[in-house]
Amino acid sequence: MSSITLKAVEKWYGAVQVIKGVDLEIEEGEFVIFVGPSGCGKSTLLRMIAGLEETSRGQIMIGQRDATAEPPSKRGLAMVFQSYALYPHMSVRDNVGFPLKSAGLPKAEIDAKVEEAAQVLKLGEYLDRRPKDLSGGQRQRVAIGRSIVRDPTAFLFDEPLSNLDAALRVEMRYEIAKLHQTLKSTMIYVTHDQVEAMTLADRIVVLEFGKIAQVGTPRELYERPANLFVAQFIGSPRMNVVPFGTVKLDKAPSGVVSAGMRPEHIDVVESGGGHLQGTVDVLEYLGADTYLILSCGDAGQVTVRVNGTTELVPGDTVGLQVQDGMFHFFNGNGLAISD
Ligand code: ADP
Ligand code: MG
Repeated sequence: MSSITLKAVEKWYGAVQVIKGVDLEIEEGEFVIFVGPSGCGKSTLLRMIAGLEETSRGQIMIGQRDATAEPPSKRGLAMVFQSYALYPHMSVRDNVGFPLKSAGLPKAEIDAKVEEAAQVLKLGEYLDRRPKDLSGGQRQRVAIGRSIVRDPTAFLFDEPLSNLDAALRVEMRYEIAKLHQTLKSTMIYVTHDQVEAMTLADRIVVLEFGKIAQVGTPRELYERPANLFVAQFIGSPRMNVVPFGTVKLDKAPSGVVSAGMRPEHIDVVESGGGHLQGTVDVLEYLGADTYLILSCGDAGQVTVRVNGTTELVPGDTVGLQVQDGMFHFFNGNGLAISD
């Protein structure tokens, strides 16, 4: 287990800069998630840490060691990809034990390590099966098992759950959370899915165009997003952002240009009251909740989360009241203004 430190790390492909100076300290045992839209540089940054991509500038430290120029094999990190290449002709037991066999460990030691990994990952009853006789989730667990047996200094995951269906993704998310609790290893996990990031991470690193937009705990990012990008990336449905002038408010911090409000922080009040006026366009009924999508004149479209039992119907005109202290204010550069 090890800490990992990135110092002013850059990646250039010819004249194109893909990673634009990233500084980050990941503590020993921490579960850190890189999240951001497709193409923002998540995989590139992870592959640089793994040593699969050269680092153009800056430094990558593993523990106290400068690993910037080290080949992947020297770094002692385990990488788990979205597409898990298992050996089809080998049993689960042999797949999991393969890295140890390649390293020439004695059979008894391999068996013990494989048993241990199988126990952590609940693979015990599948050890003699072939990959083709496993579900997608079980195969992913075998791939993780194969990295666990090597006692890596850290685990690196690149969208490991993207190939799985929604129900299995939720199940594997739980498994990965348990895995981190059990192993207490340093983990870096890449995903474009903010829900995965929110539910798993000790700390989230939000990347935007190869730069860190914000680093923080899930709760910090949700409660105090530093800018519009993070405000609208974290949270579902996403934060409503309207021109400040369209909101009825007595006082506001200076320099404010836009106002943000999360769908779950808006109450529906009588028409004429509240901060905004809107007409219900569409109701999305989800059972426990209903999302109202309203047209609010110059403020544009606003989404509000209400109880699933709401009796509102399209065409109803209502007032929208943002709960006390729940406005987010942003300046002309999209940076949060703290009040
Ligand atoms: P993500 O994993 O966040 O979706 P990537 O790290 O895969 O993003 O890619 C980041 C950016 O780097 C993208 O714009 C991609 O087109 C670019 N990129 C990736 N690999 C190369 C390459 N070998 N040559 C040039 N550009 C690349
Ligand atoms: Mg990627």
